[in-house]
Amino acid sequence: MAGRMGAPRPRCRLAAALPGQLAVAALLTMVNAAAAQELVRFDRAWPVMGTLVQATALAPDTATARAAVGAAHDAITLADSLMSTWNPGTELSRLNDAAGDGRWIALSPESLEVIRAAIAWAERSDGAFDPTVGPLVRAWGFHGGAGRVPPELELDSLAALVGWRGVELGGGETSGGPAGAARLAGAGMELDLGAIAKGYAADLAVNAMARAGAVGGMVDLGGQVSVFGPAPDGGAGWPIGVRDPTNPKEILGRVTVDGGSVATSGDYERFFEVDGRRYSHLIDPRSGRPAEGIAQVTVVAPSGMDADALSTTLFVLGPEEGAAFLERWAPDATAIWIRTPEGDEIGEGDVVVSGAGAGMVDIE
Ligand code: ADP
Ligand code: MG
Repeated sequence: MAGRMGAPRPRCRLAAALPGQLAVAALLTMVNAAAAQELVRFDRAWPVMGTLVQATALAPDTATARAAVGAAHDAITLADSLMSTWNPGTELSRLNDAAGDGRWIALSPESLEVIRAAIAWAERSDGAFDPTVGPLVRAWGFHGGAGRVPPELELDSLAALVGWRGVELGGGETSGGPAGAARLAGAGMELDLGAIAKGYAADLAVNAMARAGAVGGMVDLGGQVSVFGPAPDGGAGWPIGVRDPTNPKEILGRVTVDGGSVATSGDYERFFEVDGRRYSHLIDPRSGRPAEGIAQVTVVAPSGMDADALSTTLFVLGPEEGAAFLERWAPDATAIWIRTPEGDEIGEGDVVVSGAGAGMVDIE
């Protein structure tokens, strides 16, 4: 629908300079400012996790920059080989296969760290974020195949399979059983780290770059970006595009961050439409239905794992409930919500910003 009633709403542009890692990153930038001129930049892109990874390393010489990007590649490959649920051989797939049969599955420290964080966000958000939402995601057709609106009765019966309290961690963490192992309480339960593992992988990758000798770097895992160190070309920070959810090939504006992470969840990543209504892959586990009213949420935070989990959580909560949630649980993060616009274009009134850096976001 092209026509709109009344006065045309102003089209929107975004600009922001946000501290992701505050003092530490600022200091690092200052220390490295003089050296930044002589840094060598190395870029590489490759496919993984159903997306394209783009990595950039800044280092004193080409060999180090190259090695740093190689280290980022290995870190992401490791995270994928542990936590993907698309690949049947991963330890997470084994955990899901054993759901309800009582067996404890030994997990790597990496998977355990992400599962602990996922449980913590589920608890804080009272289940708006829930890593066991998989059966619902599947019922709506988002695990391959065609999208469908499941009958109410089916959603009611699936509700019993969703609930983060059914994720048991051994060693007395949440349950008996061996330390370093986990199990899912009910048959048919699924643990899906899709809303948090990419952020963890991005952080793992930039940390690997730093250890390999890079002075600065960026890893973009398809909408999940972590950066550290000085920006290229002596800039004030790393410029990261915020997509226009009505036209995801275009950007609405940029946030410039001097360390930390930027994560985006959008309703255009996976969706289907019935009678002009859009159903997206971001499910509100409390209703069993796709979250409505929001087209995209971008979160800037010191940790990639938290930014990733928050982008999904705040998408489900929406800007009103979400602002209070942010203040309580992530006071150093900033969130930009974009509501589903009434017409074809995002207007000023569709953008809501809240959190630590809210005052630094300009909406034109
Ligand atoms: P992206 O938009 O890049 O796919 P997100 O971080 O927004 O990534 O995560 C989306 C994935 O998270 C979905 O594909 C689904 O598997 C899972 N998911 C959907 N809703 C929720 C929820 N409420 N809590 C946790 N995970 C969810
Ligand atoms: Mg997420």
